[in-house]
Amino acid sequence: MEQFVIVGGGPAAHQAARSILQGRPLARLSLVSNEARLPYDRPDLSKGFMAGNAALPALLAGEGLYSEPRVEWMGGTSVGEIDRRAACVRLDNGVSLGYDKLVIATGSRIRPFSGEVAQAPVHYLRTFEDARALRSLLVDQARVVIIGGGFIGLEVAAAARKRGCRVTVIEAQAQLLARTGCAVLSRWARTLHAENGVDVLLHVKVDAIEPGPSGNTLVQTSAGPVHADVVVVGIGVQPNTELAQACGLDVDDGILVDSACATRDPAIFAAGEVTRYTVTQLGVRTRSESWTAAGEQGSVAGRAAAGDAAAAYGEMPWLWSDQYSSTLQCLGIPQLADKYACLGDPDANQWLALGWSLDDRLVCAIGANRNRDISAIRRGMKRNEPLADIYASALASAQSLSMESVV
Ligand SMILES: Cc1cc2nc3c(=O)[nH]c(=O)nc-3n(C[C@H](O)[C@H](O)[C@H](O)COP(=O)(O)OP(=O)(O)OC[C@H]3O[C@@H](n4cnc5c(N)ncnc54)[C@H](O)[C@@H]3O)c2cc1C
Repeated sequence: MEQFVIVGGGPAAHQAARSILQGRPLARLSLVSNEARLPYDRPDLSKGFMAGNAALPALLAGEGLYSEPRVEWMGGTSVGEIDRRAACVRLDNGVSLGYDKLVIATGSRIRPFSGEVAQAPVHYLRTFEDARALRSLLVDQARVVIIGGGFIGLEVAAAARKRGCRVTVIEAQAQLLARTGCAVLSRWARTLHAENGVDVLLHVKVDAIEPGPSGNTLVQTSAGPVHADVVVVGIGVQPNTELAQACGLDVDDGILVDSACATRDPAIFAAGEVTRYTVTQLGVRTRSESWTAAGEQGSVAGRAAAGDAAAAYGEMPWLWSDQYSSTLQCLGIPQLADKYACLGDPDANQWLALGWSLDDRLVCAIGANRNRDISAIRRGMKRNEPLADIYASALASAQSLSMESVV
């Protein structure tokens, strides 16, 4: 009987499993995940779960597949090695699992704080267990210091404010969400958080985290010490590429895959946050840190592994973030933008920033509370249809210098 193995337990693995079972009803499938829980809704950890009272994470739709007799769920187990010659994976419990087709969907892990941490508790957020531990400390008036002004840090800030905490966000760059390079977004986010009572420290570097005088924590920064009851570090992630690298697959800040999610080994596919793939519309490789992309790419990887020659993935990255009552969306690759136009009004919490490259290709659309626009642009670009006039004509007013000059 044909045997498929998937390494990972996130949305990419889950959707790959669904596709494989659909495409190969008679095959056997093993999923090996070092998280014990069935695949769950990770984005909610920093949003509804962190702000609310749910006891358990929401599982991904279709979890019934894990109780099918042809499926073996091996939660709480790590794959330590891929042996391509023997076509098997070796688990940390000593078991070897042979495969006809393998899908690697190992995602990312948090990037640890590189400064000094002296016996002071520091929290990160990647798994349900991380979220549960952190949430239990977010009590009324607790002083919460968040290191890193990216999406996750800001979502935790919003949830902590909702729980009555006193929140400080420390960001080493001169702007929040600096990685996007979109000044409208950065400035808007700063105002949003300041208006909601968050103390935002920009251009401030954290040197050390150490025990404070009365059982709390001292965060030593370039702007002086900051007292904290809870310290959260959210400074990005790194892809779990070690397995792929060790078995000789092509890796360059992500496992390199083609449009069929195939690696250089025809028996091995990869999907989700651990991959670098080519965005068809832009012709550039990217590693997307996006829930939707991981699921969609996982689905394609599963179809391709099951033998569907038409399976192809090359979508624009797309992610969303909920903060207070606002929803942000980011489509495309803002780092490629050379000029922007802004539609709407950041002060009214409704705006859309469109970014073009020098050769007038639309490379990104970033918006706050403009979900319909982003969906319309996403749909249009996906189908290669001309964009609505309002978006297309914005190019005429795009300015090259900086976002500061267009709002
Ligand atoms: C708190 C939080 C909030 C987020 N919010 C958003 C959001 O609002 N919008 C958005 O688009 N994205 C969001 N994301 C990002 C999104 O969750 C990820 O992009 C997505 O989960 C990636 O899916 P994946 O399947 O590729 O990897 P992951 O979800 O990381 O899953 C990989 C799995 O593989 C397991 N694994 C790794 N190595 C091994 C091994 N050797 N053996 C066995 N198992 C292994 C891991 O433990 C993990 O369970 C958020 C992420 C976090 C942490």
